[in-house]
Amino acid sequence: MLYRGPLSSCNYACPYCPFAKHTETAAEHAADARALARFSAWAETQPFSLSIFFTPWGEALVRPRYQAALTHLSHLPHIRQLAIQTNLSGSLRWLENAEKSKIGVWATYHPGEVARERFLTRCAELDTLGVRYSVGVVGKKGHFGDIETMRAALPGHVYLWINAFKVGDGYYSQADLTRLGAVDPLFEVNTRRYRVRGMPCNAGETVISVEGDGTARRCHFIERPIGNIYEQDVRDLLRPRPCTRSSCECHIGYVHLPALDAASVYGDGLLARLPDPTLWADAARLETYLARARNLRAN
Ligand code: SF4
Ligand code: SF4
Repeated sequence: MLYRGPLSSCNYACPYCPFAKHTETAAEHAADARALARFSAWAETQPFSLSIFFTPWGEALVRPRYQAALTHLSHLPHIRQLAIQTNLSGSLRWLENAEKSKIGVWATYHPGEVARERFLTRCAELDTLGVRYSVGVVGKKGHFGDIETMRAALPGHVYLWINAFKVGDGYYSQADLTRLGAVDPLFEVNTRRYRVRGMPCNAGETVISVEGDGTARRCHFIERPIGNIYEQDVRDLLRPRPCTRSSCECHIGYVHLPALDAASVYGDGLLARLPDPTLWADAARLETYLARARNLRAN
C-alpha cells in the first residue's frame, strides 16, 4: 500500500520540484497529523499482512510524527515491510527504537541542496544501524559528475539508482545513456514511457495507493478512485484490471506490470527500490530483465 497524506512541504529547494521550500500552516500540519494517525490506526487493526510505502508530496521524515508512525508500525507482527521516500536530511535517531529489519529507506541525493559529505554521513549512519537503503539521483545533465562521484563514494553494497530526467525525447545522447548505464545498470528501464493501455497491471490488485482521507486508487497515476479504505473492506477493492492510461514512466508504477516481472530483480526489496544483492553477479538474470523491458512497447 502506498500512502500519501496531505503533507506537501519540503526543507529543500530542488529546482525540478514543485514542493521546494513550500511551507505549511499550523492548521495544515495538524490536518496531516490527523490523517497519518487515522491511517496508522487503520493499518494496526487490519486482519491481514501489509506492507506500506510512504510516498509523500515533499519531505515527511523530518517530521517526528512520521518517525513515530514508522516506529510504531514496525513493531506490529502483521506489518511485513515499511519504506519511505526521503531526502535523508532528518535525524535518524528514531530508527534506534524501530524494528529495523522491516524498514527500507528510499533516499534521494539532491546535489546543490546538500553537501556530498553530509549525505554520505547519513548513509554511514544507516549502515551502522543496519537499515537497508538505496540512494537515488535525478539524472539531469548537470548531475552526471555528482552521480559518478557519489557512486564511487558509497559502499559497494548500496544500490545507486538514477531517475531519468523526462523532458522529452532526445534529452540523452547514446553517450549519456552509456555513461549513466555504467553507474546504474537498471537506468535504461527508467528512460522509457511504456505504452500500457490495456495491459494487465497488479496496481489495484496487490498494491493500491491511498490518500489522507482514505481515498484509494489503483496507483498514483490513475485519478479515478476505486473506493475508500475507511468506508469498506479494502480487500473488496482488489481485483485484476487492465491499465487505462496511455503510458507509465515512473518506477513506482511500472514495476507492478506482470509483463516486466520486476520481482525477479528486486525480490523482497521492491518497496524501497533495493535490488536483490545477488543480481549483480547474475548477468543472465539482469540481461533477461533488461530484454523484457525493451520488449515492452514504449513511446
Ligand atoms: S527533496 Fe524531494 S520533495 Fe524536497 S524539494 Fe527536493 S525533490 Fe522536492
Ligand atoms: S501500468 Fe502504471 S499507470 Fe497503469 S495501472 Fe499500472 S501503475 Fe498505474
